[in-house]
Amino acid sequence: MAYCKHCGARIDDGANVCPECGTIQNNNPQTTKDEGGFLWGLLGCCIPIVGLVLFLVWRDTKPKTSKAAGIGALVSVIVYVLFYVLAAVVGVGVAMY
Ligand SMILES: [Zn+2]
Repeated sequence: MAYCKHCGARIDDGANVCPECGTIQNNNPQTTKDEGGFLWGLLGCCIPIVGLVLFLVWRDTKPKTSKAAGIGALVSVIVYVLFYVLAAVVGVGVAMY
C-alpha cells in the first residue's frame, strides 16, 4: 500500500494520481521518462525485434513506453504476416491458372 506524498492519503499501488488531492505520484524513483510515444512505436514497427526487447525490458519501469514499442512491434508483425498470407494466396491463385 502506498501513501500520497502530498496529503498522505492511502492510494492503490498501481495508481498514478492521488484520489484525494490529485497529486501525481512517482512511486518508482528509477522511472526517469515514461511518456510512451509515437517514436518508440515507430521504432518497434521498423525493427520488431527491438520493439519486442524494449517491451520486455521496460515493461516494469516504463509501462507506457514499453507499450508503445510493443504495439509498434505487434503492428509490424501483423502487417508482415498479412503481407505473406496475401502473397501466398496470390501466389497460389496465380499457380492455379
Ligand atoms: Zn494526496
